[in-house]
Amino acid sequence: MTLTARELVHRIAEDSGLSYREIVHRLNSRMAQGHGLLVSVHSVAEECGLDPDKYTLNPLRIVDRIREILNADHARTLMISAVLAQMIESPDGSTLPLPAFFAFVDILSGLEGQACLRRTPPTNVEGATTEVIELCTTLVSLICDWSSTGVAGVSRDCPDELRELAKTVLRKTRMYQAGLWTCLSCGRITSLKESRSVLCPGCADEEFQGDSPPTDEMSEGRHRTGYGQFLSSDE
Ligand SMILES: [Zn+2]
Repeated sequence: MTLTARELVHRIAEDSGLSYREIVHRLNSRMAQGHGLLVSVHSVAEECGLDPDKYTLNPLRIVDRIREILNADHARTLMISAVLAQMIESPDGSTLPLPAFFAFVDILSGLEGQACLRRTPPTNVEGATTEVIELCTTLVSLICDWSSTGVAGVSRDCPDELRELAKTVLRKTRMYQAGLWTCLSCGRITSLKESRSVLCPGCADEEFQGDSPPTDEMSEGRHRTGYGQFLSSDE
């Protein structure tokens, strides 16, 4: 099953005989005109003489897959969270779209009782991190409407089950644009200037008293090609 925009582009490229880069170029030019991800995908597929209905993405399945990954290994999920939080803080800011990060946080906070920490070290942290990033990025492309400035609303095609998630992503993104940040630990709203390491000043002080800084292994996942609303043609 195809769950990410990248996989879908690969399939269209394979089936049409065109290059990945060419398909991305055609998709990006449509999305730049304000068309949604799926509408653009279908139009490109049709242009290539393919049956558009065969190239689709289901946001509910994407959320299921994200939950499955996050539930599989609690220790690994903590590492993924740390990597994503670092990406958000990184000054270039291009590696992870903020709306995708907000979707991740919301899905994570909705998970029921985490399994016990395993004694064995987590496996495939980098692979799982990359997959979660791609899934979350694809998800917000589907459930939100986009404009040139970012998320602009809840998509008409957003399934009812995911409307609250889409609204949360929209609200937090707008707050961020207005210079406000919701503390990931206590949920208090703080100004971006005051917030430290995705936390409000109070929680940041507590955090840094006990925790050791993240290891190099944990930050490996950030060295990836970023793509948000628009796909990168680097592949
Ligand atoms: Zn806080």
